Amino acid sequence: MKLSLRGVAKSYCGRRGETVALCPLDMVVREGEFISLVGPSGCGKSTLLHIVAGLEPATTGTVELDGERVLGPGAEIGLLFQQQTLFPWLSVRENVRFPLTLAHARARAGAVERDRQAARVDGLLRLVGLWDFRDSLPAELSGGMQQRAALARALVGQPEVLLMDEPFGALDAQTREDMQELLLHLIQHHRITTLFVTHDVDEALLLSDRVVVFSERPGRVLASLDVTFARQARSSELKLDEAFLHQKREILALLRGRARTEAQRDRLLFGLTNTPLEGGS
Ligand code: ADP
Repeated sequence: MKLSLRGVAKSYCGRRGETVALCPLDMVVREGEFISLVGPSGCGKSTLLHIVAGLEPATTGTVELDGERVLGPGAEIGLLFQQQTLFPWLSVRENVRFPLTLAHARARAGAVERDRQAARVDGLLRLVGLWDFRDSLPAELSGGMQQRAALARALVGQPEVLLMDEPFGALDAQTREDMQELLLHLIQHHRITTLFVTHDVDEALLLSDRVVVFSERPGRVLASLDVTFARQARSSELKLDEAFLHQKREILALLRGRARTEAQRDRLLFGLTNTPLEGGS
């Protein structure tokens, strides 16, 4: 077991009183497993990633990575968010190298280690197709290229776990498919344990070993579904496959179940009598 979450819950206290973002949640993630988290907006998916990354504390519960409690951010966890956060004044190569420069400052890496790390940066730049743009500034790149640079930067520290929060959400459809293919290629080779937040059920099924479906806020796990078709077979054509469509319908039905209860609640609250219910299943 790579990651273990036990009783992890989160509440925020604000001017409107207490907001329960996440109900107590248990989750075990195996080494090399790729899990997508899907659920309605505001159900606590990002909050959960922040807690696993050690960026904010859980209100209750514990997160363990390889049996050690996660108490703050560290190099063993790589992060990639929708809003890319490249430094605009650094070149692509300097951006990708940046986490290692921080590590150098801490560990005073020797010359051999520095050469090894420089080779790793260059290898990643080639792998994500940015070698020819290594000296460009982020503003000179397209959105997809910037996200590829951010992905390379997330991987450069050789993290044990990769956490991604709608990383391709701002990209156009074609670039998004290209990024999915690239990510599939990377995870097949490196087998990095991954938690991936997405709104896109197709994307979740294309990439994951398991899809975890959350309820509306306060988020709780409605279902944890193993993806049954072989990853080697995955590509955009798979979206037409019957097994794929079956799992997609199953997940959408869980998400629509929420819409149905919301519609029923609205009828009760507002006396609406003819609101069509979403979905037929
Ligand atoms: P998701 O990623 O599923 O869209 P979030 O994890 O961003 O959901 O948010 C879950 C809930 O917690 C939301 O209701 C949100 O308003 C609330 N929330 C998130 N961050 C904070 C915060 N820093 N302070 C107060 N409430 C927050």
